[in-house]
Amino acid sequence: MSKTQVSKFDELTYPAPRGTVLLLSCMDPRLLDDTVSFMNHDNLQNRYDHVILAGAALGALGGGSKKYKHWKKVFFDHLAAACNLHKIEDVYILEHRHCGAYHKVFNVAPELGDTEEEMEQEAALHRKYARLLEGEIADWAEEQKVNLRVTSFLMGMRGEVSLL
Ligand SMILES: [Zn+2]
Repeated sequence: MSKTQVSKFDELTYPAPRGTVLLLSCMDPRLLDDTVSFMNHDNLQNRYDHVILAGAALGALGGGSKKYKHWKKVFFDHLAAACNLHKIEDVYILEHRHCGAYHKVFNVAPELGDTEEEMEQEAALHRKYARLLEGEIADWAEEQKVNLRVTSFLMGMRGEVSLL
């Protein structure tokens, strides 16, 4: 287990959220209960707006394709609504392993297996898109004059969560 692991059994290793959070996650049905468990573990029960887009960060970036470009507007419109309605100060980007959207919808990478090397490649891929979205959210927040902190996570298929 890596030092950055923050499963429900571990201590938090990132700043605690300050109020209501906007959670961006993928639509994968296998992780719905784990996602709720993770948010409850973070003392966020009924304290988050939930935006679900296939591929999470990659989806919110428009999947790098013309076909899904409008998803970026959908995400940022929801972020604006969350800021207006609930004065959110934190955004969580929750990526997950074995995300079909990455290789079946947006085709940015082949399906990766469970060797150590493939898992590292997979984490790097999710980190890449999470960092890109973090940057776009920071630019947006500056423009809108709102104070947002973004934290990105990677969930495994058993619901274990690491910081990205
Ligand atoms: Zn997915």
